[in-house]
Amino acid sequence: MENDTLDLDLLQVPEPFAIREWATERGILILAHSYQDGFLQEAAHFVGDSLELARKAAAANAKSICFCGVHFMAETAKLLSPSARVFVPDMDAGCSLADSCKADDLKKYQHHLTEKLGKRPTTVAYVNCSAAVKALCDIICTSGNAREVVESIPENQPILFVPDKHLGGWLNETLGREMILWNGACEVHELFSIETLNEMKAQHPDAKVMSHPECPKPIRDASDYVLGTAGMLRLVKESNNQTFIVGTEANMIYRFEKEAPQNTYIPAPGASCACNLCPYMQMNTPEKLWKALHEQGPEVDVPAELFDDAQRSLLRMLEIV
Ligand code: SF4
Repeated sequence: MENDTLDLDLLQVPEPFAIREWATERGILILAHSYQDGFLQEAAHFVGDSLELARKAAAANAKSICFCGVHFMAETAKLLSPSARVFVPDMDAGCSLADSCKADDLKKYQHHLTEKLGKRPTTVAYVNCSAAVKALCDIICTSGNAREVVESIPENQPILFVPDKHLGGWLNETLGREMILWNGACEVHELFSIETLNEMKAQHPDAKVMSHPECPKPIRDASDYVLGTAGMLRLVKESNNQTFIVGTEANMIYRFEKEAPQNTYIPAPGASCACNLCPYMQMNTPEKLWKALHEQGPEVDVPAELFDDAQRSLLRMLEIV
């Protein structure tokens, strides 16, 4: 690090492409989730959903990874790329869904279910959870591969699905399973309002509604498509001159407009606002990214006693899809 020029450098944040180039020259890989704003997406070497970023981290063989996303995503990158220094623009960028499932509570509930059912249920965790929770689970899934992961488990085996009750409910409906669901939810996807969505559909009768499986059932039922973000991206790329009402974090629209500009995108309405932005993702700013790159920190680590178990459940997912 060039300490003598650090303060001067930090006064002026360069354009995104110059940040990317600066990082490339220093062997730093910048990964950004699709829910990050346009500036951070442009600065990144790779933008994707949780599954794509997990795969990228595993294959990268990078010395340093700057992860623009939330904390559990950076932990996932560390678990899949153990020799890399993984750091984030803002250490406080968490996730309401991950916070809704604490490892101690999960451990007690698993014990309770094992006694009640007379056998240990398989615990499937949506990737939006802490490394401590991943370490207690048998296998991880993302919204992009959840169906395949659940289908890989024998039908007569009881399953506990954590932490998202809406994604779990959608899987139960579409796969005909009766998984036991943890009572967690994403505060962003819970904010979508069915009343205002119906009004919007009436205003745009030709529009197709896409919603994320993290949305509550009334929103999913009012949608033409229920898809993870990668599935949404595939759909809009294959569509021409179509209008889409988008029921997921509103920054996703930046990516749609970039990769499929032929369509029109309208953010699905929240209960009290026209857009839905994740307050945790918003904590990452261009200034914080630029500072983090200079300092290669704050660094995200996973405690040694959790590492192997958390990594095992992630690797099991990658073996399936
Ligand atoms: S959008 Fe929801 S699930 Fe994703 S990071 Fe934000 S709070 Fe968590």
